[in-house]
Amino acid sequence: MLVNFLRFALYDFEMQVPNDWKLSIDRKSQYGAGIISFSTPKGSTLDIIWENLEKHRTKSPTVEDFLNNYIEEMKKNKNVKSIDFTKEAPIKTEEHESIPHEFTYVYKQPFSKTVSMRIVSKCLYCLHSNRFIIVYSRFDPKKENPDEPIIRDVIKSFDCYCTKNTKP
Ligand SMILES: [Zn+2]
Repeated sequence: MLVNFLRFALYDFEMQVPNDWKLSIDRKSQYGAGIISFSTPKGSTLDIIWENLEKHRTKSPTVEDFLNNYIEEMKKNKNVKSIDFTKEAPIKTEEHESIPHEFTYVYKQPFSKTVSMRIVSKCLYCLHSNRFIIVYSRFDPKKENPDEPIIRDVIKSFDCYCTKNTKP
């Protein structure tokens, strides 16, 4: 079956999503904070999580600071055995900062098996609506991930349109 993309829009978020993905929204979600999850017919998931930006900005004034701090924390975590991190150049407008990025890590908890994980993600600071937003998907780097190219495109298409929607 040919997959058609459609425009998903909610709470000023927009992205292009295949029409055969299933959507679930955490019932406590609202404009200021929430969780949206999509699942694909092949079993992959893509999550959007957002919350108040203020507490993040205190520690990390820019989205780039946030990511750098996040990676530093992971490197300090004794259970993380290795981490490989790449990020693209930040995209900045007056009201939004975003960075597409990805990281692959190996994780070992005591008395538990070693897990490899790849996170493909985009992180946004929306200064206008005061929201911290993260869109991401997880993959097992040791397995075939047939959805990965499409998921990468979907993440790429994600953006916050709050300024466009409030200032016509
Ligand atoms: Zn916004």
